[in-house]
Amino acid sequence: MATIMDGKALSQKLKQQMKLRVEEMKQAGIMPKLVVVLVGNDPASHVYVRNKHKACNEVGILSEVIELPEETSQQTLLEIIGKLNQDSTVDGILVQLPLPKQINEKTVLRAILPEKDVDGFHPVNVGLMSIGDEGFAPATPSGIIAMLHEYHIPIAGKNCVIIGRSNIVGKPMAALMLRHDATVTSCHSKTKDLAQHTRQADIVIVAAGRRNVLTADMVKEGAVVIDVGMNRNDEGKLCGDVDFAAVKEKASYITPVPGGVGPMTITELLENTILAAQRHHRA
Ligand code: NAP
Repeated sequence: MATIMDGKALSQKLKQQMKLRVEEMKQAGIMPKLVVVLVGNDPASHVYVRNKHKACNEVGILSEVIELPEETSQQTLLEIIGKLNQDSTVDGILVQLPLPKQINEKTVLRAILPEKDVDGFHPVNVGLMSIGDEGFAPATPSGIIAMLHEYHIPIAGKNCVIIGRSNIVGKPMAALMLRHDATVTSCHSKTKDLAQHTRQADIVIVAAGRRNVLTADMVKEGAVVIDVGMNRNDEGKLCGDVDFAAVKEKASYITPVPGGVGPMTITELLENTILAAQRHHRA
């Protein structure tokens, strides 16, 4: 029976540490500030933004939410980003995704100054991360690395299989695991015989957004299993991509959904905002 990796508890612990760091920064005259721009009426986005705002307040990071109507033009959004880029009191800028149809996501993400791009989605930060240089790594993969460290799970030399290759989870996850010296295999919807790959893995990270993509027969005895997925089961309850009940009997460590990777994602966003403020004032 696996150890259940408690992302909620770790996130609380890290937030307590951040609170002290932010207090010290404030004493030195540095006030870390995040601005989140939310366009439109997507209910899930409103919940995510509220949670980010709440988490900033918990650790003392100044947080402002700019809410714009669904029909906002791309030009208007770009002008707002331009002003935030110029505003020296703003350390981090985050545009909540998805954006309404009339707005091109790529154009908007590229308009944010890389040094304020705390989501780590700007191509400059993607490039810096892949060459292992100082930038911002996306929050979800960074949160997973933090969890592996917390549970003293070795990464170097381990076979790591990642299911999913999105720009926000799968690909940056592969880059970070490679940077930590894992031997990385990236799987996706065109992968032939997924189980053949996952059965070789010491660490399996699942970010497919499909229930039961990873079942017990696909996992090696003692493997570490990280579940990024957020789905609803037949009863409407939140569940991951992993058949948790069966896989936990075979794995050595496993993350639950909810209470695993999710809470760590917001914590890493806070970490990136603190980093942005430190770098901004160092410059
Ligand atoms: P995405 O953009 O939809 O990407 C899903 C990836 O999974 C794609 O690369 C896809 O392959 C692959 N895939 C889908 N079905 C597969 C299958 N049956 N076998 C193998 N590969 C398969 O999703 P995402 O944005 O990366 O998010 C993934 C999941 O994580 C979602 O449930 C999302 O809600 C969740 N999530 C959670 C957090 C958190 O904080 N906990 C943060 C972000 C995302 P192709 O590329 O070939 O299409």
